[in-house]
Amino acid sequence: MNETGPPLPVDAQLIRSCMIIEDENASPKKETSSTNKISKKSKSVLKNKLQKILCCAVCLELRRSAIYQCKYGHLICAGCFGDILTESRLQNEIASCPVCQSTISKDLCTRNVAVEKTISALPMTCPYCLLQISPESYKTHKKCLCEKRPTICSNNLIGCPWEGPHYEKHMHQEQCKQLSANGYDILQSLNDMDEESKDEVNLYERIFELLSVDKFSYHDLQFKHFNYNLSTEDKIEAFETSKFSAFDKLWMIHGYFKDKPSEFHYQLSLKGTLDKPLSLHYLLVKGPYSEMEIKPKLCQFTFQQNSLDGPFETLSLWYHSDSLKSFFQAKRINFRIFLFENN
Ligand SMILES: [Zn+2]
Ligand SMILES: [Zn+2]
Ligand SMILES: [Zn+2]
Ligand SMILES: [Zn+2]
Repeated sequence: MNETGPPLPVDAQLIRSCMIIEDENASPKKETSSTNKISKKSKSVLKNKLQKILCCAVCLELRRSAIYQCKYGHLICAGCFGDILTESRLQNEIASCPVCQSTISKDLCTRNVAVEKTISALPMTCPYCLLQISPESYKTHKKCLCEKRPTICSNNLIGCPWEGPHYEKHMHQEQCKQLSANGYDILQSLNDMDEESKDEVNLYERIFELLSVDKFSYHDLQFKHFNYNLSTEDKIEAFETSKFSAFDKLWMIHGYFKDKPSEFHYQLSLKGTLDKPLSLHYLLVKGPYSEMEIKPKLCQFTFQQNSLDGPFETLSLWYHSDSLKSFFQAKRINFRIFLFENN
């Protein structure tokens, strides 16, 4: 049980913390409007205190998701909550709160709407430049102001395929080759773009077809960070998910960054044995409440007793990003995997 005795309900902790901060800022002499003005420094103190109070007890992050609480008020974000329930189900154990060990389940825990609202009023992380932006300015920043927001060349309509961060657009356009290209080259580029969009349409049609297959399964998972030593010199930054069950088998996904901070490689592995080959299509998409826009890529592999690990696939985002690695380092990445069994 909790070592520090019955904890204060979260809302009471929050109010007490805010009162302490106000006390720290209040001038003892003047009780004028200046006492209402919170300095920049105390704002960041407040933010840090809120972060500590409102963060998920498992991933220690402020998640803009449903937030559950155990009967003693410990907070767990939706991603971690689902993860704990799945893991205990797989191990035939009763799920428990990671702080006080009290039993948790969808019925025993409630959502804490006050905490969800408080978190939604706190600054948000821009997925492109990773700066903290107020929720009011977030959409405008992401769409129109962020220097690293993904953009395409203004000559895209005449076949320039360039895409990149906004701060590079001007430089690119000054030397965009498409402006001096002849009619034949322009036609060639337009044909290439046409082929690309046909491939995209084919991909979506294939995904829609797969959604009608007899056996399919989906799971919300998190990539958790761990350091993995291939050998003493060759250290790679690795991630893995919890095990999950699909088609009566246990599965797991591993991933790693090796050379480039923009390239993440992942692999679906079957844990256990197989008596006959199992052919699957699988697809990673962004998870609920996730800020990462994953570009869909349909993978296919036939798992067999002598090949239980799928091939390594590359995870791409919808936008050019050098910051994929820092994104992974800053947060636990939530994603959803769909698995389709081929007939
Ligand atoms: Zn969490
Ligand atoms: Zn608890
Ligand atoms: Zn930004
Ligand atoms: Zn261009």
